[in-house]
Amino acid sequence: MTTALAARAYVELGDYLRETATLGSVAGLASWDQETYMPSGAASFRAEQLALLAKLTHERSTSARLGELIAACEGDREVVGDGTGVEAANLRELRRDYERAVRLPASLVAEEARVTSQAQEAWKRAKERSDFAMFRPWLEKVMGLMRQKADCLMTSGMGERYDALLDLYEPGAKSAEIARVFGPLRDRLSGFIREVAARGRGPETGVLSVRVPEVQQHELGMKVLGALGFDLGAGRLDTTAHPFCTGFAPGDTRLTTRYRDDRFIDALYGTMHECGHGLYEQGLPKMDAAGVAARFGQPVSEAVSLGIHESQSRMWENFVGRSPRFWAWALPVADGCFGGALSRAGATAEVMGRAVNTCTPSLIRVEADEGTYNLHVMIRFELERALLRGELAERDLPGAWNAKYKEFLGLEVPDDRRGCLQDVHWAFGLVGYFPTYTLGNLYSAQFWEKAVSEMPGLEEGFARGEFGPLLSWLRRNIHGHGRRYGASELCERVTGQKLSAEPLLRHLERRIKPAYGMA
Ligand code: ZN
Repeated sequence: MTTALAARAYVELGDYLRETATLGSVAGLASWDQETYMPSGAASFRAEQLALLAKLTHERSTSARLGELIAACEGDREVVGDGTGVEAANLRELRRDYERAVRLPASLVAEEARVTSQAQEAWKRAKERSDFAMFRPWLEKVMGLMRQKADCLMTSGMGERYDALLDLYEPGAKSAEIARVFGPLRDRLSGFIREVAARGRGPETGVLSVRVPEVQQHELGMKVLGALGFDLGAGRLDTTAHPFCTGFAPGDTRLTTRYRDDRFIDALYGTMHECGHGLYEQGLPKMDAAGVAARFGQPVSEAVSLGIHESQSRMWENFVGRSPRFWAWALPVADGCFGGALSRAGATAEVMGRAVNTCTPSLIRVEADEGTYNLHVMIRFELERALLRGELAERDLPGAWNAKYKEFLGLEVPDDRRGCLQDVHWAFGLVGYFPTYTLGNLYSAQFWEKAVSEMPGLEEGFARGEFGPLLSWLRRNIHGHGRRYGASELCERVTGQKLSAEPLLRHLERRIKPAYGMA
């Protein structure tokens, strides 16, 4: 292939990717609608619409034509230059995605869809009755499929089957490397939680139960989004049962949250969490300076990994939102929206700053506080890795689960509903997904320390409602790169260090100790 032909192939490749991504964006819009405003009568036809779009997208992502276009550009000097530019990064990532997509036989994909949809129904019933035995045969089927899937996806650089599944969510990550970081985090966190529990009294949290009508909570959410820098001209905030963020198109990033009158804080932090995802989506280079979506569909306009995505949501939810300095700004704003309800209940910035930094072991992951959350994740990582390796039999899962909750959180698990049946992930076939939650927390802590070291007054600025410097820093160091660097390379480039448990441990101690009156 001559270089002129390669250059033409690269242009055609860009068009091809943009069309595939455009199809995907229509599916994204249809899914968003399904979760928000779709009337229930539309459900069965919506499933047909989404299935067709998924089929078309899959065909395009595995087509021989795509393979030819990638091959025509690879190694061509006019296209890839010295190998450090956007084009080279695109081709590297496209090759990865393509190889992975064509390695999975269609029959296995179809079987996985069939089994996991039935497994989800079985999981729902089993959870309702708190009866693991009802779910066990489905868990065995799902794990069997996951082993097959991993065997298809294994490549030479991977150490074990689990790595092949992990790679779907956290490209390039290795389970041995994750275990190296998680091990000390688990042990030290577990010790810290015991130390905190021994102090007895936690902070006063009554102020978090002040009743606030939904419309007032929504007003606060919108004010906070605006202040953090979320572009409401290119996004929305709506209500759903399960909050999410979807940045499916250039100039269109949708956030959702949910409200409970007696827990305004959940909606606020839920909104800030999704806002962090949304700021990342809005900061990815999907459009050029002229507002043309030329790079939409190219890897360099996409998110690095679920872990890096989660680092952005955790940054705004925890590092910003649970800072006492944030409350110096947010309390008057919240009082303005809530008719003074928080101040009447005795809230001050200090009271709020302590109330949102509790550290109490609990049984349910999604309700856990920031101090204890990662233990829930690490327990799941250890168990699913053992299940996949065949070191733990599915029938022994409840016992193994309960033993780990006792060991690391000091809790007795009273039943499977509040134990190993609480999460839907395994029924969905999401094995290798859990670690991305804790990776997100670890990355965010490491990014945070670097940002603070470069901008010493960063946290003080929050008290004045100045969130722009942090957003600009994230735009420059993380958002703007898309998938140009893998997650661990990005971490090292930004922070100068490999991923480590230390920054997160330092952060948790710094926030939680004052709330418990510890030095
Ligand atoms: Zn998230």
